[in-house]
Amino acid sequence: MKTVYVDNNATTQIADEVREAMLPFLTELWGNPSSMHVFGGQIKKYVETAREQVAELIGAADPQEITFTSCGSESNNLAIRGGAEAMDKPPHVITSKVEHAAVSGPCHYLEDRGFRLTKLGVDKLGRLDVETLQREVKAGRSLTSIMWANNETGMIFPVGLIGEMVHEFGGIFHADAVQAVGKIPMNVSELPIDMLSLSGHKIHAPKGVGALYIRRGTKVKPLILGGHQERGRRAGTENVPYIVGLGVACNLASKHMDEENVRVKAMRDRLEAGLLKSCHGARLNGAPAERLPNTSNISFDYIEGEAILLMLDDKGICASTGSACASGSLEPSHVLRAMQVEGMSVHGSIRFSLSTYNTEADIDAILIELPKIVQRLRELSPFVS
Ligand code: PLP
Repeated sequence: MKTVYVDNNATTQIADEVREAMLPFLTELWGNPSSMHVFGGQIKKYVETAREQVAELIGAADPQEITFTSCGSESNNLAIRGGAEAMDKPPHVITSKVEHAAVSGPCHYLEDRGFRLTKLGVDKLGRLDVETLQREVKAGRSLTSIMWANNETGMIFPVGLIGEMVHEFGGIFHADAVQAVGKIPMNVSELPIDMLSLSGHKIHAPKGVGALYIRRGTKVKPLILGGHQERGRRAGTENVPYIVGLGVACNLASKHMDEENVRVKAMRDRLEAGLLKSCHGARLNGAPAERLPNTSNISFDYIEGEAILLMLDDKGICASTGSACASGSLEPSHVLRAMQVEGMSVHGSIRFSLSTYNTEADIDAILIELPKIVQRLRELSPFVS
């Protein structure tokens, strides 16, 4: 059975070009980039090329504004904890109710240590409450951390507007762009963004590497102390093979993102339109036009998302649900709850997230199997008479 993988917001396939570029650094080029001798020292230039490739994809003015980390979560922690702790006075920490745990975790960590924390809501379409943000940024210098795009619904937030509001009152703005990088064009040097997180495994590089853009002049207290690597912002001998892989993945995205996005969005739109038409009681979560081109989150009334996923899995189709199964109880997604998705649909949501490796045949397979699964589960549902 062929696997149909539509869970690319969870992780992505490693591109062949990325793997091939990494291999020499796992075989003959294993030196330490900080070494004084030629054997080690030659490695440094590959790390710097990768830094340039990351900078180019996000539009950073200077590659030195890129700090390599181990993942998107570490980048978020460095930006939020390291950013807040480097500010003269403890800032007002502002975030949203729909962030990934890698942002809400460090925000709550700061709250537990006496920082004031405000969490902004979203409307029923998942759009950020910018009016409350406008009020809250006036209440003292803030460190505001808002995602560029939501991992569950694909909703894109107005980072330019958010950054302007934050900067007007002297605050610092961090954008968690883990889901946005490589999927939509960006130019951080022209936006009021002080820090931006990205992750390798969401853009066809391996797990275990990420980066944080830190605009020149922004102060950050390192989380990992020790060596002088990454200009003192992150101690630890560089993970050269993975850094090289991240650089190549960024380079591939810089070259192909525009044309690939048109193709991916067309497939996503066909999938979405097909499911909304063929499955009675199916609803789209999120505002249609303000989303990433690859993501679709659909609720199916009266049935559990987990049941749909299991039956899809049986057919070789890998998607994901907004609900997390915690300690035996089915907890609805915090994102859909913040959007006030109604009780009967909040449990039955499925996220489809596509990538450049998907084909029209994948979409055909889902459009054939999912309506039958929904029909079967509805027949079993005690809520449908
Ligand atoms: N931020 C967002 C929006 C994410 O979707 C994820 C991962 O799913 C992360 C942060 C964490 O990234 P990583 O898995 O690289 O730690």
